[in-house]
Amino acid sequence: MSEALLKVNHLKKYFPIRAGLLQKTVGHVKAVDDVSLEIHNGETLGLVGESGCGKSTTGRSILRLIEPTAGEIYFNGREIRSLSGNEMRAVYRDMQLVFQDPYASLNPRKTVESLIAEPMLIHNMYAPAERKKKVHELLERVGLNAYHAKRYPHEFSGGQRQRIGIARALGLQPKFIICDEPVSALDVSIQSQVLNLLKELQQDFNLTYLFIAHDLSVVKHISDRIGVMYLGRIVELSDKKGLYEKPLHPYTQALLSAVPVPNPSHNRDRIILEGDVPSPANPPSGCTFHPRCSACMDICRTQRPALRDLGGGHMVACHLYNE
Ligand code: SF4
Repeated sequence: MSEALLKVNHLKKYFPIRAGLLQKTVGHVKAVDDVSLEIHNGETLGLVGESGCGKSTTGRSILRLIEPTAGEIYFNGREIRSLSGNEMRAVYRDMQLVFQDPYASLNPRKTVESLIAEPMLIHNMYAPAERKKKVHELLERVGLNAYHAKRYPHEFSGGQRQRIGIARALGLQPKFIICDEPVSALDVSIQSQVLNLLKELQQDFNLTYLFIAHDLSVVKHISDRIGVMYLGRIVELSDKKGLYEKPLHPYTQALLSAVPVPNPSHNRDRIILEGDVPSPANPPSGCTFHPRCSACMDICRTQRPALRDLGGGHMVACHLYNE
């Protein structure tokens, strides 16, 4: 396998809970609680889990858009948590983010041309005429047209706006893009078009993706490997085949049971998860999934299972697989 472009060790992001007149810290929301992962050149790692599991916070902490509480982040072999703001700015040429809601992330008062050109301008890339040419090329590349350059975001559909967001990220010729639920807000028919576009662009530009989604059927389409997150931690990590054909963690099994299969005669029994995701401010003891797990044993209530490799890189954090 190629070298890791991104390597994250023991990443944590705790948000303080403040209370009282003096706003004293009375606890922490452990949004990301000891996440380690690697993403190799040209690979897509999918990150899935219910809303509130910490997957988007993981993505933003990796980019240092929110400052992590602890952990190491290596990008292209360089530790980036110790970099200054200016040094980070240079790194952002290589690391980009595509947002879930392109409408919220695109300034409605700017034309598409200035929106796509803006990151290039900030990084002093190209003379004005060349920048304009690049914008037109990018628009064509993401399936829009040069004549769209003079229009404003509200004149586009959700799918087209996401294409504009992708063109904006591509302008800097990044190596790595975090796609944070990029198709969740789109109609199902449009979702596959945008996913196909992301796959094509990956081939053409040798991109590496961290693809965040709450839907296992969406990440299957695009990912090489998939990490399943629950309450701030990765509970299972595997290549796509292993995860979909032999899910090990009871949480992954429940998520997968909800994914429709094309052949109705192969329908899986649906596993209904009881209750909501517990609060990360007050996570359950032991295995944090235990209040919702039908396979819960005594040990699960007191001891947190470590993420262990059961062979071939298929990792799981569950006492069912302890020797
Ligand atoms: Fe269920 Fe126990 Fe495994 Fe947690 S460790 S997923 S509670 S069996």
